Amino acid sequence: MDDTEYHRRLGIGESAFDALEEHLEHRTYEGREYRHVPDYRYGVERGTALIGGEVVRGFPKIARTLVLETGVPNQFDDRIAVEEKLNGYNVRVARVEGDQLAFTRSGMVCPFTTRMIERLVDLEALFDEHPEAMVCGEMIGPENPYTAHDYPGVDSLAFRAFDWRDRRSGEPLDVEKRRERYERFGVSQTQLLGIYDVDETASELRPTVEELDAEGREGVVMQSLDGSTQLKYTTSASSRSDLAYAFSLPFDYGQEFMFRRLLREGFQTVEWDESDDVARGRARDLGEAILLSMRDAIETVDDGGAVGERHTVRAGPETVDVLLEHLREQGLRLEIEDDRREDGDRVVTFCKRVQSSNDRIRNYLEGYIVKE
Ligand code: ATP
Ligand code: MG
Repeated sequence: MDDTEYHRRLGIGESAFDALEEHLEHRTYEGREYRHVPDYRYGVERGTALIGGEVVRGFPKIARTLVLETGVPNQFDDRIAVEEKLNGYNVRVARVEGDQLAFTRSGMVCPFTTRMIERLVDLEALFDEHPEAMVCGEMIGPENPYTAHDYPGVDSLAFRAFDWRDRRSGEPLDVEKRRERYERFGVSQTQLLGIYDVDETASELRPTVEELDAEGREGVVMQSLDGSTQLKYTTSASSRSDLAYAFSLPFDYGQEFMFRRLLREGFQTVEWDESDDVARGRARDLGEAILLSMRDAIETVDDGGAVGERHTVRAGPETVDVLLEHLREQGLRLEIEDDRREDGDRVVTFCKRVQSSNDRIRNYLEGYIVKE
């Protein structure tokens, strides 16, 4: 395929494509060469992949509001479908030259997810009928190499669809049609929490968000019924668990990451008009999330251990091999902490080593003087 075709498929001019081309990352997946867009450019979504003459469009960034009451009417003017926002990792599945491939957020084919999806959900009939479909969803559960989070009923790993788009244009199906189609093809999807008028959404969502929060769930994604406009809002539990995670690796997470989550808490306590007592409770929970995880990290290094991102995966032996190779190819340093067989699967716990947190915690413990 020459690049003239790609620019047509992307719907951009030739010169824009030439400019874009310089920024494309080149990769191979099992002998197949492909390129992907590492960050948003020239109107092309981050994560867009050019592969086998086809375009697999990136998943768009979802805007966030910190205040429901005012943010919702700013983003929407009609009826809104609200679905649960799941905490896992984003995956897009498409059929390319006859093969079903799973792409992660950045547009890389993930060899682990590509294999696991086949085990978890049968998309054959869906792609036979809709070869141009891009099945978008979240991989959730405790056993995966990227984002582990527990969900009731998910022991290892599961897929939940939340969007269906045209792989080339990125155009979504409307919410009703999407839900109906996934239902028909037997694909599990994220739960629909309700459909509301724009003016009632903030008040309707308050108890929903509180419930999700009490269950340690992440939040909601609101969207126009045609699927074109989305907006997210997250729970305090989600901010706390992100902060706890970030402060367990305090020098490897950007400070912006932490600050943004603190702000969410500030705006939520005000929007919900919390009493002094309730706000104090929130402050204590927040402080505990930050301090206790940081204390663990410092103690670990003090005791001669190392901090890092620990993950467990459970899959066929070949799947585990290609995953570890894939992660190492991206420059990650992995330490295998446990490797065993269970029912024909290989169950591996590994740690992605991080440098800055280990080094800097050690320096501070050794009395490094800070000029501040
Ligand atoms: P990005 O937007 O680049 O993924 P992020 O980590 O900031 O970055 P999140 O805050 O997790 O993103 O919110 C957007 C992500 O939420 C989507 O990319 C998608 O993977 C995930 N998600 C989970 N549940 C849903 C849902 N019901 N509808 C849409 N997206 C969902
Ligand atoms: Mg997420």
